[in-house]
Amino acid sequence: MMTDIITETIDRIKMTVPEDRVLIKEPMGRHTSFRIGGPAEAFVLVNNEEELSAALAAVSGSGAEHMLIGNGSNLLVSDEGYPGIMIKLSGDFESITQCADDPHRIRAGAAALMSRVSAFLTERGLSGFEFASGIPGSIGGAVFMNAGAYGGEIKDVVRSVRVMDADGSNARDVSGEDMGFAYRHSKAQDGGMIILSAEMEFTPDDQSEIAARVSELSAKRNAKQPVNYPSAGSTFKRPVGGFAAALIEQSGLKGYRVGGAEVSEKHSGFVINTGGATCEDVLAVMRHVREKVLEDSGIELEPEVRLINCSL
Ligand SMILES: Cc1cc2nc3c(=O)[nH]c(=O)nc-3n(C[C@H](O)[C@H](O)[C@H](O)COP(=O)(O)OP(=O)(O)OC[C@H]3O[C@@H](n4cnc5c(N)ncnc54)[C@H](O)[C@@H]3O)c2cc1C
Repeated sequence: MMTDIITETIDRIKMTVPEDRVLIKEPMGRHTSFRIGGPAEAFVLVNNEEELSAALAAVSGSGAEHMLIGNGSNLLVSDEGYPGIMIKLSGDFESITQCADDPHRIRAGAAALMSRVSAFLTERGLSGFEFASGIPGSIGGAVFMNAGAYGGEIKDVVRSVRVMDADGSNARDVSGEDMGFAYRHSKAQDGGMIILSAEMEFTPDDQSEIAARVSELSAKRNAKQPVNYPSAGSTFKRPVGGFAAALIEQSGLKGYRVGGAEVSEKHSGFVINTGGATCEDVLAVMRHVREKVLEDSGIELEPEVRLINCSL
């Protein structure tokens, strides 16, 4: 049942955000690449900084549980759902523009998808983002996670990030060096930093060569990853001194299955939803994988997927 705090907070949000963008009891399986997750008490789409600021002020003022969601491609949400307010950026936050004072730089809103940013850059003959073209997330999620692939990481191209405090105040620019980027980590994970947009720098190159590199990496991805099944990408982070997928395979866990969740036969670093998997199915697979790998190799795997309202 919805608590008074949530109801009052939703009413306050509706004073700024139009009612048709405040969805009640919205199933999170509709917003996650895993296609898993029960309902969020409310799911709010904010189209600009003013709406975001008002929504954040309302949730932080009331103490209602809340979180930002990007494209939902790195999340495992509980079957019970989320007992609070999910905020998703859209509208103005999807914009991508070339900087007027430096044509090698672009500014992408936090809700811009990596695939769109990649297409924008290819069209303008700007290279340096090819590594990220196939990551199915948003710029906000990529900065938050310091997403990376094929030897590149978002930190390599980000020059500054426009952020806001968790209470919706103090919008400001933070330099790339001050974002505390490390392997699948940024300062935003330490709490309280909302990513609004990122300015990124690239080098000029021939359009067709950039397009060829993007296609080559896409073909590699399709060949190695179970892209035709819902998942959240690599389930575990790369441990020091090894690769999660290799350790999982060495423990004989390829194809290990609970309910609809399975360690992918194609890439053992991925847990996939083969159809109708619940969050509990995925967690059961993850727990078993962690235990068996620890027993066999002495290495403790840490989840890369962010667990929402559930735990291992
Ligand atoms: C098939 C597949 C392949 C993948 N391949 C890769 C890969 O090669 N490399 C890689 O790094 N990842 C990969 N991933 C994982 C995922 O795409 C990345 O982690 C991505 O960066 C997540 O972005 P998102 O927008 O989906 O964020 P979400 O999953 O929605 O959110 C992730 C975290 O970011 C936070 N967040 C999102 N937006 C904001 C914001 N604006 N401000 C503050 N916090 C925010 C959320 O609160 C959450 O904690 C893959 C996933 C899939 C499904």
